[in-house]
Amino acid sequence: MLSSANAMEAEGPLVVIKADDLICRDDPSTAGFGSGWNRFVEIADEAGIKVSVGIICNSLSKGTPEYFARIRALHDSGQVEFWNHGYTHGRNKETGVSEFKGPDFETQLDTLIRSQALAKEKLGFAFQSFGSPYNANDANTVRALRELPEITSWMYGSKNADLLPGQVNLKRSLNMEQPVHHPNFEAFKRDFLKQPDQAYYVLQGHPGGWDEARFEQFQQIVAFLQEQGAVFVTPSELRERLL
Ligand SMILES: [Zn+2]
Repeated sequence: MLSSANAMEAEGPLVVIKADDLICRDDPSTAGFGSGWNRFVEIADEAGIKVSVGIICNSLSKGTPEYFARIRALHDSGQVEFWNHGYTHGRNKETGVSEFKGPDFETQLDTLIRSQALAKEKLGFAFQSFGSPYNANDANTVRALRELPEITSWMYGSKNADLLPGQVNLKRSLNMEQPVHHPNFEAFKRDFLKQPDQAYYVLQGHPGGWDEARFEQFQQIVAFLQEQGAVFVTPSELRERLL
């Protein structure tokens, strides 16, 4: 359940939790979410915060009906915004080429469209937000996004990208995981207190691989931000507030 306290506390910063890499796991007891994502959703619910979850979209071509139903239910609740996090999440280790860094414009556009179409087909809604795998992108990514006005928020997009009017780039300013995959409360708090005046913070995490110790670090970060009066919003809500 969402607490009304967040909505009423308008003084603090806006915070988006950008949780990456949801796939469908062979775990019927969690409708394919697996223990990490299951715990993440549970903690968000307990804390009364909104979060966002990036889907690796080939999981929508292989997923189970239970997986789709769970995503739909969370989407309908308004507590979770699901977003387009690429199709394969692949990267060539030798060349560094990934889905949105290196491929030509048509290929990148096709990758985006394939994922958007799968969301509409399997989930009944279109993604409004995008974040590329590895946050890697190039000029063709900007061109491709300009062809898809239904995507209105780009998390960790390239600086000064010439997007369409109405499309926003939600920048990275602080890291919750230090190093990557390890939520780190003390390091986060130290960094936050160095720049506590940002209008918003988009915080990346990978809860599918967190263990209980890492979830505890995440919970401390959430509690700390709530003490600062933070309002946890979805990427689309943040965009609306920034326009
Ligand atoms: Zn990812």
